[in-house]
Amino acid sequence: MAFLVHDARGLERPLRPVGDEHGMRARRRLWRVDVLQALAVASVAVAIALFLAEGGASRFGDPGAALSSLGIIAGLAATGLVLVMLLLAARVPLIERAVGHDAAMALHGRIGKPVLYLLIAHGVLLLAGYAIADGVDVVAEALAIWALPDLPLAILGFALFLAVVVSSLVAVRRRLRYEAWHLIHLLSYLAVLAALPHQFSVGGLFAEGTWQRVYWMIATVATLAAVVAFRVVAPLAGSLRHRLVVESVLPVGDPRDGIVSVTMRGRTLDRLRASGGQFFIWRFLAAGQWWQAHPYSLSAVPRGDHLRITVRALGDGSATIAGIRPGTRVAIEGPYGVFSEASRSRRRLTLVGAGIGVTPIRSLLESATFRPGEATVVLRTPAPADGWLLDEIRALCRSRGATLLTVPGGRGRGWLTDAAERQGLDLTALVPRVAESDLYVCGPRAWAEGVITEARAAGLAPEQIHHERFDW
Ligand SMILES: Cc1cc2nc3c(=O)[nH]c(=O)nc-3n(C[C@H](O)[C@H](O)[C@H](O)COP(=O)(O)OP(=O)(O)OC[C@H]3O[C@@H](n4cnc5c(N)ncnc54)[C@H](O)[C@@H]3O)c2cc1C
Repeated sequence: MAFLVHDARGLERPLRPVGDEHGMRARRRLWRVDVLQALAVASVAVAIALFLAEGGASRFGDPGAALSSLGIIAGLAATGLVLVMLLLAARVPLIERAVGHDAAMALHGRIGKPVLYLLIAHGVLLLAGYAIADGVDVVAEALAIWALPDLPLAILGFALFLAVVVSSLVAVRRRLRYEAWHLIHLLSYLAVLAALPHQFSVGGLFAEGTWQRVYWMIATVATLAAVVAFRVVAPLAGSLRHRLVVESVLPVGDPRDGIVSVTMRGRTLDRLRASGGQFFIWRFLAAGQWWQAHPYSLSAVPRGDHLRITVRALGDGSATIAGIRPGTRVAIEGPYGVFSEASRSRRRLTLVGAGIGVTPIRSLLESATFRPGEATVVLRTPAPADGWLLDEIRALCRSRGATLLTVPGGRGRGWLTDAAERQGLDLTALVPRVAESDLYVCGPRAWAEGVITEARAAGLAPEQIHHERFDW
């Protein structure tokens, strides 16, 4: 008997024999991640090696020169890592598909502080080194350095970068609106541009005819080109090509829950190459809304010329979605994320969702490859027959041969309800073959962490666990 799956255009196609297809795909993806990580490390290593090869190695003869050389190395490493950070945030398809948006942004965030420390070391070591070489104190040296061409601009670049890193510290970030935080983050591009001239003018390091000059010019231009191409040109071109327009905005469940489904109509949506579980960044081009963009997952995969998101009003931006009028144009960035088939590593599938986290679960269930009996959906719902998109998920489970388990009731101490815990239920009791499956989890942070802890205890490897976070 041949099984059928629905592809992104809504057409039915026979299910290909699965075999170890998922395992192979996961291995290929993880291999690409390794290559990208190696390239990032190599880019910094090459920069330092070029410096040492082009005279840097001979600059360790006396304490002053040695300190300045260490300062230069710290500066080169910091600059190289800043370019890596920009590339991680540039939404380059190769990085997005291999690493995933979340992981790329998490890595981007983790590099910020080390770069700051390297930049501080760069300034302090150079100042001390130059002061020793010139036989003056550091204050006199600081005044002399200030007069160097492009130095004030470089210091401005450092100050901007400092603002970006400080705005990302958890305690500060929590107090900022997303839009304010994002605006400060855009300063990092200005920081790079401000720091650039001193690299080429001070110390003659990147003088004409050096390999260092060639290397840094290529690295900087390529990185900035990637940012412009994938953060500006591609979204603009995509929005113009697909011409998405809001067709309907309908409440989901009890209107007091503040949840709406927005169905949009567009052109050539198959060319979006979006799959279930992925998200886009949406900008509704209506008065009072066009200036903010928010990430929302697909709650239904593109079918023909339609796609859909489902949004819960959790703040200013999401609360305005219910008031969007049919006919409103929509600009998009994406698709992003590997909370999708792209990260599958096993034949079996376990989808676990709670609250509004049900949206990517619903679309992933729609498009994932599995045979009847190989997928289980576990939903935390307020009541047995009451849950957002529950009817649709039930119908999909029925037609695709997936098992649906709802865990109704109030909160529990862990991710399950107290009643479920009293019955001795846990992830393995609910999904006995969970260890053989890919687990996709989406819901409130603490709740999702509870599921993931149990999954690890059940023996799932890291590549089997996929978590979509709705917060930042
Ligand atoms: C990958 C992803 C997929 C998501 N999918 C859905 C979905 O399908 N349905 C749904 O209802 N919600 C989804 N969200 C959450 C949704 O993006 C936020 O609820 C919404 O942006 C809140 O904005 P606000 O102005 O209403 O509230 P605010 O008060 O401004 O923000 C509330 C919280 O939302 C987050 N947030 C706000 N703006 C952004 C942004 N541009 N980028 C990232 N995070 C932001 C922040 O964590 C903030 O703490 C998703 C979030 C992410 C990151």
